[in-house]
Amino acid sequence: MTSLIMIFGATGDLAKRKLFPSLYRLFERGRLSEQFAVVGVARRPLSNDEFQQSVKDSVQSALGKDERIDEFASHFYYHSHDVTNSSSYQTLKTMANELDEHYHLGGNRIFYLAMAPEFFGTIALHLKSDGLTDVKGFKRLVIEKPFGHDLASAKELNEQIRTAFSEDEVYRIDHYLGKEMVRNIEVIRFANAIFEPLWNNRYISNIQITSSETLGVEERGRYYETSGALRDMLQNHMMQMVALLAMEPPIKLTTDEIRAEKVRVFRAVRNVEGEDVHNYFVRGQYGEGTIDGKQVPAYRDEPMVDKESNTETFVAGKVMIDNFRWAGVPFYIRTGKRMTTKSTKIVVQFKDIPMNLYYQTEKELNPNLLVIHIQPEEGITLHLNAKKAGGHLDAQEVKLSFANSGVNAMNTPEGYEKLLYDCMRGDATNFTHWDEVAYSWNFVDKISAVWEKSKENFPNYESGSMGPKAADELLEKDGFFWWPVTDLDVDNCQGK
Ligand code: NAD
Repeated sequence: MTSLIMIFGATGDLAKRKLFPSLYRLFERGRLSEQFAVVGVARRPLSNDEFQQSVKDSVQSALGKDERIDEFASHFYYHSHDVTNSSSYQTLKTMANELDEHYHLGGNRIFYLAMAPEFFGTIALHLKSDGLTDVKGFKRLVIEKPFGHDLASAKELNEQIRTAFSEDEVYRIDHYLGKEMVRNIEVIRFANAIFEPLWNNRYISNIQITSSETLGVEERGRYYETSGALRDMLQNHMMQMVALLAMEPPIKLTTDEIRAEKVRVFRAVRNVEGEDVHNYFVRGQYGEGTIDGKQVPAYRDEPMVDKESNTETFVAGKVMIDNFRWAGVPFYIRTGKRMTTKSTKIVVQFKDIPMNLYYQTEKELNPNLLVIHIQPEEGITLHLNAKKAGGHLDAQEVKLSFANSGVNAMNTPEGYEKLLYDCMRGDATNFTHWDEVAYSWNFVDKISAVWEKSKENFPNYESGSMGPKAADELLEKDGFFWWPVTDLDVDNCQGK
């Protein structure tokens, strides 16, 4: 793909850990043509040579290899830039035009905003007013999360962006949509005759989505204090997974059709507000505890965190989708830091059969479960019941499992690699449309409005646990329980 890629924030963590290694992989696989150039933009003064060296170092440390690295790095240029200064954009424009000519890029430009979100709007406005978006090829804006802090700020940001880019030129990153198994959800659903007919409230009793981390807030305390788990994880990643699980089959696999189906799910999500929020959502904050045999501090004792902080590091909730397919089926979602294990899993629990003839020794038959392992393992497991070998007509649970021998890391370059490639090809399917963002903020704002009014009795869960007791009670009152995520690991399955 021929294009000029401009990375704003090129000396930052995201650029080094994800973007440079992902671009290198695309280059190595022949997915970047010889006609590409990257301009790194950041505040610090650096020569092109120094910048190219930092690109090589990031690729080497992320991937541990460097064949053709000199050739790759020779396409990288640096511009020391203050994002608020107009004359700096003029210099950038001259540089971009020269590179465009030198590499025959046809005026194609991708602007990647990998820096603090408070600058997103300013940069977009300058790109337009200083003429960087006046090109004869395509122009695309890739923008990182968070997209706003609530609906009002997201709207304001969107308006600023839209002065320079149309909706179909905006690529809002949700890196979960780059994950292999998240992309697999629609294939598992729509390509299997044994699932799609059952994928509704007649056969599914509930769906559980857990995304747990063992890490604490680390050095991100300043940012996290203004965000919390609801805004940082639920508004985007968790709600995107709900939409993919709940959407109707699109009539075609085009960006517009898929996004339209996802938006319809967001429209059907039941808004909860006022006192009702307490019946649907639970928040938590970690206290001290032990993880992997190590003592770890409470959230309030982390750097840059208020000693009386009311910020949630855990959230669990019940999402109801009021449409014909899903009426009455709870989607339980939970996410948090400093939990027992690092895992993202989806458990689809099917309803019990009408009459149970078989019993396992001393306990009832297990319901059928379909488990989608998102990370760190990637795969699917189907829990069935079958006759116990040798026994009478006793049933036992058997698990059919498929493990993707994929990558074993959270937020790996592979996700970014796919997303960058999609953007270069002009495929926005796995990026979030403004309507999805807006509906999702609208839903989340009603919850935070209630939480902000009262102080919770934090900390309310121990580091190394699966969250506060109230998160378990949320399911218990509906007659369900959270399936223990570690028991569901692919490695714990027979019959692989
Ligand atoms: P960072 O703080 O490591 O890097 C910020 C970059 O912005 C640096 O290159 C810095 O030089 C540049 N910058 C800051 N002020 C500037 C100015 N006035 N003019 C020009 N350049 C300036 O941040 P990061 O961790 O790389 O995150 C970048 C964005 O990506 C954020 O929106 C973040 O939320 C998002 N994000 C990051 C990660 C991650 O893994 N790091 C993951 C998901 C999303």
